[in-house]
Amino acid sequence: MDAEGKRNPTWTRDELILTLDFYVQCQGNPPAKDSKPIKELSDLLNGLGNASNKISDKFRNINGVYMKIMNFRRFDPQYASKGAVGLSRGGKGDEEVWNEFINRPLVLKAVASSIRANLSQEPETQEQLSEELEIAEAEEGHILTRIHLFRERNRELVKKKKADTLKRTGSLSCEVCSFDFAKAYGVRGEGFAEVHHTKPLHTLQPGTKTKLEDLAVLCANCHRMVHAKKPWLEIIELKNMLEK
Ligand SMILES: [Zn+2]
Ligand SMILES: [Zn+2]
Repeated sequence: MDAEGKRNPTWTRDELILTLDFYVQCQGNPPAKDSKPIKELSDLLNGLGNASNKISDKFRNINGVYMKIMNFRRFDPQYASKGAVGLSRGGKGDEEVWNEFINRPLVLKAVASSIRANLSQEPETQEQLSEELEIAEAEEGHILTRIHLFRERNRELVKKKKADTLKRTGSLSCEVCSFDFAKAYGVRGEGFAEVHHTKPLHTLQPGTKTKLEDLAVLCANCHRMVHAKKPWLEIIELKNMLEK
C-alpha cells in the first residue's frame, strides 16, 4: 500500500502464469531475492499491460515477485508434507492458476513462452472486444485471448475460409449444430457465418501464419458458447454437449 492507502492492482492471470512457470522451472526453490532471474521476472511483469495501472513503484518489485513465488508453495505437496507451508496470503487467482496448470507442465511452459513471445505484438484495437462480446478470458490469460480474437477476425482470412468452405461443401453451415444462416433467413443470411480459430492458445507464436484448416465455421450461438466460460471449448466438446 502507498501513503494514501491505495493498493497496486491484483495479479492478472498472465502475471500468475509467468510466475508459476518460474516456480516450476526452479522447482519451488527460487534463487535469492536480489538475484538476476528474480530481477528479470520483475522487469518482465513491469512490461505487461497491468503495469499501466500501478499506483506505486512497489508494483511487482523483487520483494513482491519473490513473495508471490513463495505463495505458491502452500499448494505444493512437496512443501506441505514437510510441514513447511508457504506464505498464506495471496489471491484466489493463485490457486486457480495452480490447479489449472500444475499437472500440465509442458502446456504451462508453452503458454508462458507464448505470452512472452507475444508481448510486443499485442493488437491495440482489440482492447474492449472481449468485454463487448461477453467472451471469457481464456485460461491462458489476457494477451493470448486477444491474439486469438485478433486472428479469427482477420477479414482477409475469414473471407478465404468462407469461400473455401462454400466451394467444398456448398454451404456455410455450423460445424457444431449445422445451423445454416442462408437456409434459415434466405437471401439475408447468404454468406453469413462466424469463423473460429481452433488452435490451442499456447501455439500462438508471433510470425506463425493461420491456415484455413486452423479455422472452423460456426454459427453465432455456438461461437459464443465456445468462448462463454473458462476454459474455452474445443469444437468436439461443444458438439458432444449439444448431443446430450
Ligand atoms: Zn451452431
Ligand atoms: Zn473463436
